[in-house]
Amino acid sequence: MAMNILVVDDSAVMRSMIIKTIKLSGLEIGKIHEAGNGEEGLQTLSDNWVDLLFIDVNMPIMDGMEMLDRVRGKQETRDLPILIVSTESNEQRIRTIDEKRAGFVHKPFTPEMLREKIEEVLGLVDKT
Ligand SMILES: [Mg+2]
Repeated sequence: MAMNILVVDDSAVMRSMIIKTIKLSGLEIGKIHEAGNGEEGLQTLSDNWVDLLFIDVNMPIMDGMEMLDRVRGKQETRDLPILIVSTESNEQRIRTIDEKRAGFVHKPFTPEMLREKIEEVLGLVDKT
């Protein structure tokens, strides 16, 4: 089944890199949505059906950690597969991401790495 994807990152260049890598990963992709910050991301999420969500951490207006909190706090998206994509990887943050049942991908990544992480988060959700 084709997956609809939402990529939330304040860098348009990074968004297109992520999208290009997703396409190269060999997964069957449906619609691809983009948003430039957490607030825009939440709006896009409430207007569209999304199967997999990519969130950057450092963004203006609403950052990725707050967006993750809000997404998990909503009934409709509490089990949505999520990958946090960031250049920053401090242990405390990774622990928080893990507790919120999201995956973590370090930028930059290869298509293989991304695919592996995607399968991981899709599996996370199947278990719940
Ligand atoms: Mg950023």
